[in-house]
Amino acid sequence: MAGWYHDLGGCEQLDDGVLHDHDGHVWFVSSHTEVPLLGSLLPSDVVALLCDPDLVLRLARSDSVTGAVRWQDPTTYRPGAATARAVRSRDGTCRFPGCATAAMRCQLDHVVRHPEGPTEAPNLQSLCATHHAFKHHAGWHVAMDPLGVCTWTAPDGRTHTTWPLDRHGHRAA
Ligand SMILES: [Zn+2]
Repeated sequence: MAGWYHDLGGCEQLDDGVLHDHDGHVWFVSSHTEVPLLGSLLPSDVVALLCDPDLVLRLARSDSVTGAVRWQDPTTYRPGAATARAVRSRDGTCRFPGCATAAMRCQLDHVVRHPEGPTEAPNLQSLCATHHAFKHHAGWHVAMDPLGVCTWTAPDGRTHTTWPLDRHGHRAA
């Protein structure tokens, strides 16, 4: 059971149903997973869920015949908590130009869409709900360099740069 409490944040997805973590361990999701009210999840679906840095897990044991929950862990667990913390403390605020929404109230966005881009800090940024929607629906484009500097391109082609907190205290203008 202790193995479940393992930081899977930023795991590399090797193949359908296979995860590769930071310590070089390989995790297998061996079979379909039955989820009450949802039905059967494929191993690749479970792996995709486990790669999400904002995922919250709660462990439960259920009766194999009736499906009734016999035991439930009172605590929740975020596999990607360490990665999420690192991204939010690097960013400080929403990374959209001029937005001051605190990173703690932001969603984590894959700069390069998952699964093409990894669930790792250099490919994750904090965006408030409004600007998360801007990125996906309003024609803005963003690229991030390995130091976490974001270059946004507006629908009119103009570019705006936003900086992580640790870059000389620069903030977006
Ligand atoms: Zn914002």
